[in-house]
This record gives sequence, structure tokens and C-alpha cells, in this order.
Amino acid sequence: MAGTRKPVVEVRRSQRRRRTVSAYRDGERVVVLIPDQFSRAEESEWVDRMLARLAAREGRLARSDDELVARATRLIDLYLGGYGAKAVPASVRWVTNQNGRWGSCTPADRSIRISHRVQDMPDWVIDYVLLHELTHLIVPSHNARFWALVGRYPKSERARGYLEGVAAASCTPVPT
Ligand SMILES: [Zn+2]
Repeated sequence: MAGTRKPVVEVRRSQRRRRTVSAYRDGERVVVLIPDQFSRAEESEWVDRMLARLAAREGRLARSDDELVARATRLIDLYLGGYGAKAVPASVRWVTNQNGRWGSCTPADRSIRISHRVQDMPDWVIDYVLLHELTHLIVPSHNARFWALVGRYPKSERARGYLEGVAAASCTPVPT
């Protein structure tokens, strides 16, 4: 992302606003609308908060279905190139109804779905989850051949560790 450069922020105070704060991008600038009664400290706190929110929103938009398809094409090229059309899915999309799994693949209709819970993870983890499902188009089960193919991706092991960590952390802890 282009996010290392801090954007120019224009703060507009409004007497009509009581509590609501909003922000939008206007070319290179970000306009933040705040209530007139905010102190300087509140102003700077809210500017930071709104910039973070805006960046998160734009990050999610960047990870659209189209981007997922482009990502799949790149991964097939890099790691499953020898399989030609066998590795190409009919559809790849983000879904929100898949809480127990990171991704799924239906070899019968060659469709792949990736959970929205992966959307905010680092690129190398998304790549792993997607490559995993793409590999299922070639090898449906988790056998040695499957893991050998997935293992062509250098960060496979690391990504699996990352996902295990997230799964463990999201478990409701047993009350002590
Ligand atoms: Zn699998």
C-alpha cells in the first residue's frame, strides 16, 4: 500500500456537529469533520483514529474478489504452472459465512471461497490459504502429494503456524 506517507489532513470544525466525527479522502488530502467543541487533544486523538479507520477501509476494498482472482493467477503461475487448466478455478471469492474454516474448495464445480477472516491478515498468509485451496483442485485430499505441492510455497510452514496461532487465540478461554 501507499501508506507510509502521512496524508495531509484538513480538520473542519462544525458547530452543528455534537458528537459525530467523519472523514473522507479528497484527492491527496483527508478531510476530518469534528464537533466545534472538541479540545485540541480530542482533535488530535480523533484525527489519528479516523486515519486508521480510513486506511483499514481502503485496505479491505483493495482486497476485493477481483484482487483475489489476480492473486490466484499469480500463485498458479508461480507454484502450479505445470498443471495448466487443472489448477485454474472457475470462481474465487471472499465469503462471510465461513467461520470454522479459512477457505474451501469444491472440486466438482471448481469454486473456491476464502473466509473474510483472512482478509486482514498479511499478504503471505492470504497467499498460503489461497494456494492451499487451489492445490485442492489438483489433489482433493490432504495426502503427501498435496503437501508437497503446497510446500513449493516457501512460507507454507510459517503461514500454517500463523493460522494456528490465530485459531488458538480466538478460542474462548476456560474461566479459572
Ligand atoms: Zn485443505
